[in-house]
Amino acid sequence: MFDLLGSMWLQFSIYIVQSIFGWLFIGDFDMAQIPIEQRAIVPQTIFDVENYYKSPSPTRRLAWPTNEIYLKILEDAKARGIGYPWFRLISGYRDLATQQRLWDRHPTKDRSVIAPPGRSSHHTGHTMDLFVGAKGGYSPTSSASENVSHMRSQREYQIFKNEIAPKYGLWELSSEPWHWECDRECRKTYLMSEYQIPESLAQSIVTEQVHIPNGDLVAFIEEHGVTRVANDPQKEGLGGFGKVLVGTAIVSVVSYLLYTVLEEA
Ligand SMILES: [Zn+2]
Repeated sequence: MFDLLGSMWLQFSIYIVQSIFGWLFIGDFDMAQIPIEQRAIVPQTIFDVENYYKSPSPTRRLAWPTNEIYLKILEDAKARGIGYPWFRLISGYRDLATQQRLWDRHPTKDRSVIAPPGRSSHHTGHTMDLFVGAKGGYSPTSSASENVSHMRSQREYQIFKNEIAPKYGLWELSSEPWHWECDRECRKTYLMSEYQIPESLAQSIVTEQVHIPNGDLVAFIEEHGVTRVANDPQKEGLGGFGKVLVGTAIVSVVSYLLYTVLEEA
């Protein structure tokens, strides 16, 4: 029994240490939520959206349906009395050439904060850098620690993180409070609750097997006679802490089994 507990604690400690090291030393492009193999897929429909700089720019666009989710975010903010410049898009879809320019602009020592061209989740058009505050003299995407802690202390940022982002299943890059990703699950959940389409169709859309011309899903539904279904938008899985607990338990049990098998062999 002591062996079992000892082994589990050992594995648990290794797991925690690995997590901390991963968080500290692996940059933006590896810790991001949208898997690397999806980041090379060029989105089919990209839209201009209202943005932080109030000027048109190829880097301030979003792919459908994340552009719709972005508008919902601004509505949610407005309903809470939060207006411009909060949560306005600073950077969304980036093509390879744009990422190359950003990459070239970063000195070699500073490249942990930028993904190499072809590996940024911004290539998907479903990643949003949003204004969540900036300390005087800092850019709203500066990863200087005093700027990041200033952002985290802002009431508006906390509302975004705790109330608005969870509604859509948006994922935050822990080292960059402004960087939010809407992965396939996030988009699928949105399409099902907003348009009452069957899960199978939503899945085909987010995996790009079905193309929705101009992002006009209403027209597509009418044209193809899609039957609307009542989806439960509040279906929730395990929270972040639950996932960590389950993950730890699985890692510990599997490690213990391996340990005993190897020891007997
Ligand atoms: Zn970003």
